[in-house]
Amino acid sequence: MTDVLDADIAAFRAGLAGSVVMAGDSDYEAVRAECIWNGNIQSRPWMIVRCSSAEDVAATIAFARASGKELSVRGGGHGFSGACAADQGVMIDLGPMAEVTIDPAAMRARCGGGTRWAQLDAAAQEHGLATPGGFISHTGVAGLTLGGGMGWLTRKAGLSCDNVTAVEIVTADGRILRAAADENPDLFWAVRGGGGNFGVVTSFEFQLHREGPMVELALFFWDLDGGGAAFRAARDLVPSLPDDISMFLAGLNAPPAPFVPEEHQLKPGYAVLLVGHGSAEEHTRAVDQLRRAAPPLFEFMTPIPFVGLQQMFDESAPWGIQGYEKAVYLDELTDDAIDVIVRHMPAKASPMSFMPIFVLGGEYARRAEGDTAFGGSRSTMYVLNIAAVAPTLELLEADREWVQRMWSDLVPYAEGIGSYVNFMADYEEDRIRAAYGPDKYARLAAIKAAYDPDNVFHHNANIRPAAS
Ligand SMILES: Cc1cc2nc3c(=O)[nH]c(=O)nc-3n(C[C@H](O)[C@H](O)[C@H](O)COP(=O)(O)OP(=O)(O)OC[C@H]3O[C@@H](n4cnc5c(N)ncnc54)[C@H](O)[C@@H]3O)c2cc1C
Repeated sequence: MTDVLDADIAAFRAGLAGSVVMAGDSDYEAVRAECIWNGNIQSRPWMIVRCSSAEDVAATIAFARASGKELSVRGGGHGFSGACAADQGVMIDLGPMAEVTIDPAAMRARCGGGTRWAQLDAAAQEHGLATPGGFISHTGVAGLTLGGGMGWLTRKAGLSCDNVTAVEIVTADGRILRAAADENPDLFWAVRGGGGNFGVVTSFEFQLHREGPMVELALFFWDLDGGGAAFRAARDLVPSLPDDISMFLAGLNAPPAPFVPEEHQLKPGYAVLLVGHGSAEEHTRAVDQLRRAAPPLFEFMTPIPFVGLQQMFDESAPWGIQGYEKAVYLDELTDDAIDVIVRHMPAKASPMSFMPIFVLGGEYARRAEGDTAFGGSRSTMYVLNIAAVAPTLELLEADREWVQRMWSDLVPYAEGIGSYVNFMADYEEDRIRAAYGPDKYARLAAIKAAYDPDNVFHHNANIRPAAS
């Protein structure tokens, strides 16, 4: 690593439209904490560059490379892995680049690389529009979309990356490119699922869909003894669900929320949520069927604004909390897999740890495997994530083991060890390769070799450049 002269740092700073915060500066700790969601991440960037433009990003890439510093990229900073922060490296923080514009006639959104879902959702909903995002609104649009992106609209409209129509991207050699179906199509394919491997995305364009402003929410909760029957009933309902009903399953503690009867607040158990984005009759039919098959301990039904739905879980994963996670893909939620879940769920130590199951199908399943670089099969029906979320290190360490034990016991019922790259706290190479499969991985590695042969962007679910 070369020593970086103060004069070089001063010259770099002077050329930026954005600002620089360095370790030792009075605001460094506050800025670092603001950038990194997972409070368990110890990495301390040497320099945080708050970029305001694609030119700032290009200058920062060049400066980090010339200085021999590791480079990392922060979109929203909302990841379990903490890969956005390279220890002693240069962190590109896209936070200031969060402008959103909506073209309601074309049903398109354009947003900066540092936008959060709350910002995009709010702007699109002003026109009764939305694009699929995640379940927590303070997540970054960038990291979530580049790795795939699944949430309430996935059955209705596919993954976030399925809805990207173009990106502006700064490559490792500092070029500012547009990638779309008709422009740099290889890069366009790779960024839709291949993560942050190919450059820094400074803006996204999305296809929008008609949505809201109100949707129908039904939430059912069972205690620890009722989970097996509840999940079997929910699973049996899935094949008959229309695309515009989304389903979300979870093992969790009931929140201390007004809709939870006092005697059940904070108690561990299982939840199934059914959200109707279309016909109220179809939603009622699905809800009645589930209630009959597995009567819950309590339930809550209400119309809710779409933006409220998107923010409903925000407090379950507050900024600065400590986290660890591991996930599996499941073709089916078999009785055996449910048995593993109900055996392990009572053993979690932190009341905040939870196990969400994302139900796919619908438009997700209709997309062809090769349309995007997404690291998962379109025949997968469930993504099961085991998440340790804890206010103390002691609870986190206890639940890290809980996650690993449950994950190991679920693998025999899963589609192998590969899983959604956005749900990897540790980027294990064999699991990344398994997620993409050999053909997609080879295609990604060839594109990586063309755009980032030196693997400058490796603080991510890394694709190694193909040998030339
Ligand atoms: C509590 C919680 C809940 C979640 N829920 C969901 C969910 O419902 N659905 C879902 O699909 N995912 C979910 N995720 C996973 C989430 O998609 C990933 O953590 C994602 O990486 C977050 O993106 P970010 O921009 O906020 O994070 P960051 O940490 O900023 O980015 C993660 C990585 O993405 C890359 N990256 C980020 N921005 C850019 C950019 N502009 N250009 C190039 N590379 C970039 C970098 O490699 C970076 O290391 C959740 C995560 C958490 C912590």
